[in-house]
Amino acid sequence: MKVVIIGGGPAGIISAISSAKQKENKVILLEKNKTLGKKLLITGKGRCNITSSLNIEDFIKNIPGNGKFLYSAFQNFTNEDIINLIESNGLKVKEERGNRIFPVTDKAQDVLNCFIKELKKYKNIETKLGEKVEKIITYENNVKGVLLSSKEIIEADKIILATGGKSYPLTGSNGEGYKMAKELGHHIESIKGSLVPLEADKFICQNMQGLSLRNIKMEIKDIEKNKKIYEDFGELLFTHFGVSGPTILSSSAHLLRYKNIDKLLKENKIKLYIDLKPALSEEELDKRILRDFEEFKNKEFKNSLDKLLPKKMIETVIKLSKINEYKRVNEITKEERQKLVAILKKFEINIEGFRPVEEAIVTAGGISTKEINPKTMESKIIKGLYFAGEIIDVDAYTGGFNLQIAYSTGFTAGLS
Ligand SMILES: Cc1cc2nc3c(=O)[nH]c(=O)nc-3n(C[C@H](O)[C@H](O)[C@H](O)COP(=O)(O)OP(=O)(O)OC[C@H]3O[C@@H](n4cnc5c(N)ncnc54)[C@H](O)[C@@H]3O)c2cc1C
Repeated sequence: MKVVIIGGGPAGIISAISSAKQKENKVILLEKNKTLGKKLLITGKGRCNITSSLNIEDFIKNIPGNGKFLYSAFQNFTNEDIINLIESNGLKVKEERGNRIFPVTDKAQDVLNCFIKELKKYKNIETKLGEKVEKIITYENNVKGVLLSSKEIIEADKIILATGGKSYPLTGSNGEGYKMAKELGHHIESIKGSLVPLEADKFICQNMQGLSLRNIKMEIKDIEKNKKIYEDFGELLFTHFGVSGPTILSSSAHLLRYKNIDKLLKENKIKLYIDLKPALSEEELDKRILRDFEEFKNKEFKNSLDKLLPKKMIETVIKLSKINEYKRVNEITKEERQKLVAILKKFEINIEGFRPVEEAIVTAGGISTKEINPKTMESKIIKGLYFAGEIIDVDAYTGGFNLQIAYSTGFTAGLS
């Protein structure tokens, strides 16, 4: 059988390998970039969080976007399978906090090199780089081939569409696959960014842009219902548009699915609260501030916070506290001090919206799972057309789950 795979990301690469295991198949892997796996190289900040060590049930719990659809695919190709594939090509992996698996070398390039080595083991795989597919050709709802932008036609008995989502378009995944599938009658579930930075009160955030807070506790709340939507502990970054960093990116996957979120955002009902000193109770923090104030008692208030707060935060905290910045520290009242404690324990920022999908780690939405057979990844509309990876309407939290989705759906699509 002649198998054509569109897209040389992790999903396309693993589907080529799985197809080629059937020796009678002739596999053509088409990638429009001059190199494979461009997005893979930027995963995990260039370190590639390859997968998670969790079991399948826990994987599914970490996939809010149609996790159950992936059950068979995860059974077909597990986290152990991808680790074996990588280790058998000479790269060891290690486990870090949160069950995250990384290459011991901390280099995504090394992971990609393993994939390329594996591809080269199969003489029946031909990888064609710099080849952009424009259209999938069908006849009476059966695949027939693909049309390249060079106007060449490549015939195919089976086509695997693995063009990725719409995020970080400079890597090549710019949503072209959705268009091709739509032309063939597929329904595309609304495309949104997940694991995406958030727009927030610019008056507060721009002042502190570039500041990264570690070891903070954060909470996002719907103040209309007084309901906690997400809480986390870790890192948060201020930017020119709002907030980012691991805790914020993770929160976005929850916010995205929160009922009436767009309306609530418009009405300023979604608030971020940061506890800047989570290890201290209010009383302990008050004592800590008292100690600092004792040390700096003859200084002006604005010069008394250096030990307590990062430099970039001081001006904003002073403004919010409404304490006169020139006031002598020994003149600050108990009430004023308590206001300061309250700000540091519950630093409030209004959340205004999501950054665009192009800035997201992963795309939520995509080819409707209702139109794909979960056991084979074959389209229920076009015979011989299969889907793999982020193009499908599935998305996970951070932790290596999104890449495992790409390998497992890729492997499954290549199998049949
Ligand atoms: C900054 C960042 C960090 C991330 N970190 C992690 C992480 O550490 N762990 C994790 O699990 N996930 C991570 N992800 C998510 C992960 O990278 C994706 O989920 C994964 O790459 C999806 O794989 P894919 O093969 O489906 O799509 P992609 O990797 O997007 O590959 C699709 C390929 O198809 C090609 N293509 C598109 N259209 C055409 C066409 N018309 N013709 C030919 N080729 C085409 C593209 O050029 C591209 O190479 C991260 C994502 C980003 C943006």
